[in-house]
Amino acid sequence: MKILVPVKRVIDYNVKPRVKADGSGVDLANVKMSMNPFDEIAIEEAIRIKEAGKAEEIVAVSVGPAKAQETLRTALAMGADRAILVETDEDVEPLAVAKILKAIAEEEQPGLVMLGKQSISDDSNQTGQMLAALMGRPQGTFANTVEVDGDSVVVKREIDGGLETVKLTMPAIVTTDLRLNEPRYASLPNIMKAKKKPLDTKTPADFGVDIAPRLTTTNVSEPPVRQAGEKVEDVAALVEKIKALGIA
Ligand code: AMP
Repeated sequence: MKILVPVKRVIDYNVKPRVKADGSGVDLANVKMSMNPFDEIAIEEAIRIKEAGKAEEIVAVSVGPAKAQETLRTALAMGADRAILVETDEDVEPLAVAKILKAIAEEEQPGLVMLGKQSISDDSNQTGQMLAALMGRPQGTFANTVEVDGDSVVVKREIDGGLETVKLTMPAIVTTDLRLNEPRYASLPNIMKAKKKPLDTKTPADFGVDIAPRLTTTNVSEPPVRQAGEKVEDVAALVEKIKALGIA
């Protein structure tokens, strides 16, 4: 069984994004970029399935700029076997990414496509669901546990107030939630080895997919600045303040 893992290059989760002065988007100049954290979890889970002898090959794929090669090399250093970069100049919307992934899945015939539940850059939470719909395949989203069992995969899903268990017939689409696993760090020898692993470069046109945007971002703004707090002398003064606010 083959596992396809789409990985997106996004602003590193430790970086506080800055909004451009004209409100047209987030400033990406000189900002550290990394693999989307949920995609690291997806790569880790694919590696664990392979280590358990239930998969033979892990293929990482990224749709993005030439620099997304670095993201793919990280996936290869963690343990993916080969990578495909679908090179684009601009950011591609989830529907077009899903169409490209569908075309790759048709070529590669993976038993599982394991995506992140959402990219922290656009918070779309759409690509996995769209891919499942386009391919007519079952989906297990927000995975907390993934268990491959013969030609099925059992996914425990994180839902409000608990877990829901679903059994999907493979080929299937799974999206990872935060508590699925803790991704490993790539070791230095594995980073060196990853440089020699195969990385194919394609374009959206190779898959006949039109990536023209369908929506325009009209404005991006910073969250409102939190007002400063106030120190009070003692509890009595605090109670007086709360009473004055009319909430007690
Ligand atoms: P989104 O729907 O944008 O929140 O992304 C959900 C998941 O889809 C991500 O965690 C990735 O696994 C995958 N994905 C989205 N965009 C891309 C991309 N440009 N390249 C590769 N994978 C992507």
